[in-house]
Amino acid sequence: METVIKQITSESVATACKILLDGGIVGMPTETVYGLAGDGTNPDAVKRIFEAKGRPSDNPLIAHVHKDYDLSTLVQINQPYVYDLIKAFTPGPLTMVFISKGVVCSQAVCGGETLAVRIPSHQGCQELLRAINRPIVAPSANLSKHTSPVTAMHVYDDMKGKIPLILDGGKCQGGIESTVLDVTESVPRILRAGLVTKEMIESVTGRCEIAMHRDGDKVRSPGVKYKHYRPKCETALYGEDQLDQVYAHYEKVKSQGKTPYIMCADHIANKFDGLNLLRLGKTAEEIASNLYDKLLEGEKIADVIIAVAMPNEEGIFLGVMNRLKKSCG
Ligand code: AMP
Ligand code: MG
Repeated sequence: METVIKQITSESVATACKILLDGGIVGMPTETVYGLAGDGTNPDAVKRIFEAKGRPSDNPLIAHVHKDYDLSTLVQINQPYVYDLIKAFTPGPLTMVFISKGVVCSQAVCGGETLAVRIPSHQGCQELLRAINRPIVAPSANLSKHTSPVTAMHVYDDMKGKIPLILDGGKCQGGIESTVLDVTESVPRILRAGLVTKEMIESVTGRCEIAMHRDGDKVRSPGVKYKHYRPKCETALYGEDQLDQVYAHYEKVKSQGKTPYIMCADHIANKFDGLNLLRLGKTAEEIASNLYDKLLEGEKIADVIIAVAMPNEEGIFLGVMNRLKKSCG
């Protein structure tokens, strides 16, 4: 199969809709990472997504809908605070997990009783979702375990020959996947950290927990147990207080005739002037936005990516560190 990349226009959106309505799958931009999109009501489309990614069969998919879509047709909204969260954070990088009404097929939720739903803010994605007017399931558009794609070319690198079309909506601004929040109980619970932080959710709902993923939990995020986000080259991860070890590791790789790159925030990069660097930026937002892009750049030019951890795990850094530990740790 030939894979084409097309800028988002009304014409390419119409082509994507036709493919999706026929049970096919396409690459789709969102404000977090690129998604591999299929019709959530069509079990054949869902099967194609799992096959194209090599995704474990017990890891459910997130349904994406247009901002004017009536969520109550898809899920039970049992907690009043959900309306406040919708008002505050959607469209945007917040996914909420509800009890499903079964419109999205059971294959997409791996037979579970819950459904994760998101309303992306990316303009081109909204155009597609408006045109198709049904729930589109879309995991990140990478091969399972590989780093998530944040450009159309990243999607092409993993999916060429497997899908007919990638809609190009530019580089994803958010850069890490959405926050996944269980909203089935009286206190919302973060299942996967992202750009909508615990503090932001608390400012709306008063309380918010972070899931510890206990055995026997009713709602868990199966995805968090898998190897994830890994670039194709060797990696290492050190703390900010281990810069001597970072330098020693760098020199050791070089002495073996291989190419090391240090991936870190700008304030650390400034201390390693003159070495091979993958600079993540200054602010937490910038660092999240650049993380996957730098990992995917790094796997092409480095034999070893030596990553330096963030100064703490607060706010957006919680989501960044979660990805960094899995990709490089
Ligand atoms: P990805 O599509 O690659 O961004 O991964 C989606 C994430 O959402 C994974 O961590 C899934 O385990 C999680 N997820 C999707 N659906 C559900 C659900 N119904 N309940 C809990 N977690 C979910
Ligand atoms: Mg993923």
